[in-house]
Amino acid sequence: MKIPFFNYPALFIEHETVFVSIFKDVGRRGAFIMQSDLVDFEKRLAEYTGANYALGVGNATDGLEMLLTASNIGPGDEVIFCGHTMVATAGAIHMVGATPVACDAGPDHLMDPASARAKVTDKTRAIMPTQLNGRVCDMDALQEIADEHSLLIIEDSAQGLGAKYKGRFAGTFGVGGCISFYPAKNLGALGDGGAVLINDPEIYKNILSQRDHGRDPQSGDTVSWGRNSRLDNLQAAILNYLFDSYGEIVARRREIASIYQAELHGINALVLPPPPTENSNHFDVFQNYEIEADRRDELKAHLAEQGVGTLVQWGGHAVHEFPALQIPAKLPYTERMMRQSLMVPLNLSITDEEVRFVCSSIQEFYAND
Ligand SMILES: *Cc1c(COP(=O)(O)O)cnc(C)c1O
Repeated sequence: MKIPFFNYPALFIEHETVFVSIFKDVGRRGAFIMQSDLVDFEKRLAEYTGANYALGVGNATDGLEMLLTASNIGPGDEVIFCGHTMVATAGAIHMVGATPVACDAGPDHLMDPASARAKVTDKTRAIMPTQLNGRVCDMDALQEIADEHSLLIIEDSAQGLGAKYKGRFAGTFGVGGCISFYPAKNLGALGDGGAVLINDPEIYKNILSQRDHGRDPQSGDTVSWGRNSRLDNLQAAILNYLFDSYGEIVARRREIASIYQAELHGINALVLPPPPTENSNHFDVFQNYEIEADRRDELKAHLAEQGVGTLVQWGGHAVHEFPALQIPAKLPYTERMMRQSLMVPLNLSITDEEVRFVCSSIQEFYAND
């Protein structure tokens, strides 16, 4: 068996004929920047998630920065994020001049509301939860903290397209949220891409011009400082096509997660993510399947010998553990978890048989425990 952690060429090869016809169509129309494909895609994203607005942007990280800027967050302000996240979450906060303040994760691998609460100071302006691995945080508890201290909620929902908490979609809880179309994401473009989901019309108007050099889309006049962060129309056309089957993509990811759950739940040396169930507050889209494993590095080596690719996310470091970033924090759950965290393959290329093979290799590794 040879089971890669992720098969990048398959992203293209599986749809090659259709992609080529999309290239031809977009190219022959000369429709490269902010054309109808982008407008259509934005409309569909808003309809799907129930957000009042959706805007295509260059990538999710830019989306976060623009949400922060549109919310007037900058120098002197603190924003609380979870140390168990991609560096982009904290990077966006830093790049607008604000201070990223790290809090701990809990057993669901997401922002721990009690730890977030303990980090609030009189400089805190916002909480930025990461809807990590395709699961939404306990938003009731975070909203309570936000209400108590008059804080904004801005979601890093880069991994959360389609994930729900109590029926509400990731990215629609507070000011807004970003979505990433990085190729390995659940809805992956052929390159970089992102979107922001927005509820408030003023924030929408702000980011609409911010992403396009601060220009007013009607008059073309420059109405504020801005940047260039537009989702390419060609990528939007590709995403429009892939989005047609997004329901099936999510269903398949949940199916793979159920196999992992069924095969691995009896192993005491592992902590599995919460399983996909219909009757819970959470509807998860399984961007990743992240387990906590005793003797993680040995397990990883054992799986590699069996031909199974796995990933130690972010090189095995939480954001506050990179000395260069100078984020002072002591986060016990996150730090212990990062020594045990391992991602096993969950993607659209893997077959049921291959998932079962990964599971039996893991069972074999712990058989003598
Ligand atoms: C992928 C990702 C990002 C960054 O998305 P880009 O589109 O690459 O900017 C940010 N946060 C999280 C949690 C991510 O997984």
